[in-house]
Amino acid sequence: MIEPPNTCDLCPRLFEYRLANKTAEPSWHNAPVAAFGSPSAALLIVGLAPGMAGANRTGRPFTGDFAGDLLYQTLQRHGFTKGHYDKRIDDGLTLTNCRITNAVRCVPPKNRPNALEINTCRSFLEREIRSLFRLRVILALGTIAHRSVLAAVDASSSTYPFSHGALHHLPNGITLADSYHCSRYNTNTGRLTNNMFNKVIAMVKTLADQH
Ligand code: SF4
Repeated sequence: MIEPPNTCDLCPRLFEYRLANKTAEPSWHNAPVAAFGSPSAALLIVGLAPGMAGANRTGRPFTGDFAGDLLYQTLQRHGFTKGHYDKRIDDGLTLTNCRITNAVRCVPPKNRPNALEINTCRSFLEREIRSLFRLRVILALGTIAHRSVLAAVDASSSTYPFSHGALHHLPNGITLADSYHCSRYNTNTGRLTNNMFNKVIAMVKTLADQH
């Protein structure tokens, strides 16, 4: 099984949080969020974790919050999408040569998974990476995703340190690209501008198109 079951309780704190969210918002997804996109994609984008009112609400990675607005708008500009992104899981949007997931599949309190939760959910990230038979590029959004991807492929973060815009050529033949996370916080503080993010997506597009 690549994806965790909706009842996954391997992280007790996140399991309890999901149950509390279900009580508060019974119409929301409130379960692990499965990857989105074709299993034959050359590009895998890895975020941190579902946003409370974004993917945790809608059930699709990055769908329904600010980070998703910027991500899908930029993916669309570079030809990674077909259809119209309308912040809903049933908006008909599809991805082209691209797949999106998170290092941690359940929403964490305050957007902060702890180290044990990141390590526990990595088994699903590892399976995800192994299952993508045409995978050539992984784009990590933020340092936690970067480190989790490296651990998933048995590479060291001291050998491949996070740096926005960097490309790391990993021993398994996959290229790891880094970007600051496209969160509202990072864009509001100016750490990540639309132009910076656009350049990163253009870079991974070039690499993904080579395969
Ligand atoms: S974060 Fe991952 S491992 Fe933890 S409960 Fe959710 S799906 Fe299971």
